[in-house]
Order: sequence, then C-alpha cells, then structure tokens
Amino acid sequence: MYISIKLFALILISFFNSCIYCLPILNETSSTPLLLLISFDGFRWDYPDLYKLPNFNSLIQRGVRVKYIKNNFATVTFPLHYTIVTGLYEETHGIVANTIYDPKLNATATLDTMNDTKWWSQNSYSQPIWVSNQLANDSKQRRSGVIAWPGCDTPINGHLPYKYQLFNLNRKFDSILKQIFDWFHEPIETRINFGVIYYPEPDITGHHYGPISNEMNETLKECDNYIGQLLKMIDNDEYLKTNLNIIITSDHGMEVIKKNHTIILEDYIDISLCSVYGSRAFVNIFVHSESNIDRIYANLSTIPNYEVYKKSQIPEEYHYKSNIRIGDILFVGKAGYEIIAPGDNSSTELLGDHGYNNVESMYPIFYGFGPVFRQNMQADPFHTVDIYSLMSYILKLEKRITNGSLDNVKHILQDHLREKFFNEINLFVVNTAVNITHWGFITVGSVILVILIGIIYIIVAFRHSRKLIYVESQNVPVRYRLLSTSEGSKNNLFADESDNEEIQ
Ligand SMILES: [Zn+2]
Repeated sequence: MYISIKLFALILISFFNSCIYCLPILNETSSTPLLLLISFDGFRWDYPDLYKLPNFNSLIQRGVRVKYIKNNFATVTFPLHYTIVTGLYEETHGIVANTIYDPKLNATATLDTMNDTKWWSQNSYSQPIWVSNQLANDSKQRRSGVIAWPGCDTPINGHLPYKYQLFNLNRKFDSILKQIFDWFHEPIETRINFGVIYYPEPDITGHHYGPISNEMNETLKECDNYIGQLLKMIDNDEYLKTNLNIIITSDHGMEVIKKNHTIILEDYIDISLCSVYGSRAFVNIFVHSESNIDRIYANLSTIPNYEVYKKSQIPEEYHYKSNIRIGDILFVGKAGYEIIAPGDNSSTELLGDHGYNNVESMYPIFYGFGPVFRQNMQADPFHTVDIYSLMSYILKLEKRITNGSLDNVKHILQDHLREKFFNEINLFVVNTAVNITHWGFITVGSVILVILIGIIYIIVAFRHSRKLIYVESQNVPVRYRLLSTSEGSKNNLFADESDNEEIQ
C-alpha cells in the first residue's frame, strides 16, 4: 500500500510537472502564427542579379525567390504599399496617387497631409492586414507592430496597429530591426505576432543617381548588410528561427530618366481649364467643364512617348478607373519620360523614377522564408495584390474579399500545406492549441485529467494487488515479478492512449 501511495504521488507530480513544462511550449510554438513583412522602397527585381548582394542571394537556400512581382498602375509608393497590405487595386482602396484630389470631400492630400483617416477609409473593404490580424477572433495573442509603413499612424475604419512608429528618414535599418525583435519578445500579454517594416531605400538613391550607378551599389551593399544582420539575429533566436515567416519585398522598381525626356504640361494645354494632380511619371487631370475634356484630350494626344486616356477609356489592365479620385483624363509618360506639372520645380533633375504602367523596370523583388515556405526555389511571378492572400494564409485569418488570390501564390508553400486536406487539419490543430492555452480551459482540463488518472490508477492498482498476491505465492521476488507481467508495466499505469486523447 505504501508503494501504491508513493506511485500515485509520483504520477501526480509528473503530471503537474508536465503541465507546467507544457504551458510555455504551447505558447511558444503553436499559439499564434508569426510573420514579419519588410519592404525596401524602390528595390527593383533585378538588383540582386546586377549587383553583388551575397546576403540577398543566400535567401534562396532558405526559402523562395520569386522572379519578380507584377504590380499595378500607378507604380508609386503610398498606393502600392496600401495595395500590399490590403490586397486591393488602387481604384478599390482609394489611395490612387501620392497626391490625391477627392471631389466629394473637395480636398487634396499630399504625402505630408495624408495622415487623415478620410483618405485611407474610403470604403469598408480597405482594411490593412495589421488590423485584420488584431481583429481575428481566435486568440488574445494577436498584435501588430508597424514601423513607418504608409498609413500606419492613421486610424483606418476606426483601427490603429497595436504598436506603430512614424516614418523617420534619419533612422537606420538596424535600429528598426532591433525594435521589431524587441516587440516580438515582449511578455506574452504585449508581444506582437505580426511585424511590418518600411524602409525608404534604395528608392531615394534611385531617384538621385539612377538605378545603375556607383551610389546605388553602395546603398544596396548597405541593404545587403541589413539582411545579413537580420539572418544572424534569427539564427541566434530559437523562438523566431522555429516560428517566424519572413517576407521581403518592395513596391516598385526604378527606370533611368534621360535628359530631354521631359515635357512641361503648360506648353500643351490651357491650365486654367483644369486642375492637375501629380507630376513626373503621370498626372490626373480634373477638367472644370465637361465640354473641355475633348479639347484637352486632343492636345495631349499629339505628344509622342506619352499616353493619354479619357477616364472611361483607361485600359482594364491598369485597374485604375472606378474611383472618383481618378481624374477625367489620365496622362502618363512611357517608361523614362517625365511630365512637369504646374507648381512642380522643373529644375529638380531626377536620374531615376517610377510610376509608369506595368513594365519590367517597375517590378519589385520578393523573397519568402520560414516554416511555410518551400526552400531552394526560384518561383514564377505573381501580383502585388496576391501578397495579402499569402500573408492572410500565413496568419490564419478569415478570407476577405480582395483583388488577389491564394491560388496564385500556393506554389511557393511547402508541399503539405498546398493540399486542402492538410490545410484543414492544420487549422484544426492550431485552433485546438490556441484553446488549450486559454487558462480557463487548462484549469478545467487539469481537474478532469487528475480525476481520470486517479480512477485509472485505482482500477489498475486493484488489479495489480490481486496479481501480486497470486505471484507471491509462487515465491518469485516482487521486483522481478512486477517487471515480468505486462499488466504491471508503467505504460499500463499511465494509460497512454486515454492521456493522448485528452491532450490532443
Ligand atoms: Zn520614389
């Protein structure tokens, strides 16, 4: 009987030990999915082939390099960054340019004044994924931390990221990285599961010195070193190494601007008849009187190397028509051709620019690595609007209506994740694990388990006591006899199968 009590105590101790040990494991490995999204502004898809970037190139061994990302018009920073995080074309989310006029609001926004909710919340579809992550109703452990991404400091349809920091040109990437890693490692009550980073290079260098230049070489070397730091930090961090998925991408590429490829708009149209928004690669023209649309259109259509469209005629492939913030006339340079709009400083000479229609020089990079991604893979291109679907899948969010599709990106996922059957299993396991981490559930579950183990122990102990009496009569030492009978083994006492059923 003394042995039995001791054994029962041991069972209880090992049960509670395993519970205490299990809690951090469940929380660290199987609660909320982890994702880090990084955008280097203006990082053209072929820079890693044109320049020596060993750390970028090493990413292929760890995961996937997508040849390039096809983007949508207009290929400029604020609109495309909003597309990445919403999965919506610009005509759908409403950030249609870096300078916007809204006839309904009768207001204009530039990059400096766009931090007002009215610009980002034009409709209820516009929900950045940092908000979707926080609103997902399956866990209390979902928080987003966003650094400098366009729109992150503005409540969008009433929601801000849990943590965010404003754009700061003087801030180096290594301090941003440290901040994001700190957020991932905060106590469980405040830590983030989704980090988002925007970095303004190599776009600035691209504008000033062009995409092919010594200065670009230096800037890209710096970006490559940052990737080296990122990899080192992950490799030294078991929690993030095991769980974190990372996407490194960009909004657009960069085109060389040659001298004499610039026109002054006022030389071609009567500016008093319209208002012009934007500059350089394209402009939106709002004509004051409908009767003047044909006249302005006719003037602009005579200029070689530029394209002009009445709003109703903008090609479908642009996905740039169905929004009141798009002008009566869209005037666009062919790649490398610039427009000087009224009020723009014609003396500012750019050696590189973007904003053009969907040409190869406008395509950005894409790398993905971490538990969900395949490895050693050079993958076929997909579209900027598909990145949301991929992130939504990684974060296990409910599907939202977007312009992208998971079908277009599933080829870069691990084999087993591509099968619907396994998707469902995976979702089930995660949901169950999330529930298990809930304290209330653990308490109730623990009590039930202890009672069950107690009952099982009493039954088994009763049977053993009968067996021992029988065997003892054969004069075989007790220790030997316990080992010689399968019913007396440790496994039967712990009743593994019923235990597993409870824990799954
Ligand atoms: Zn730019």
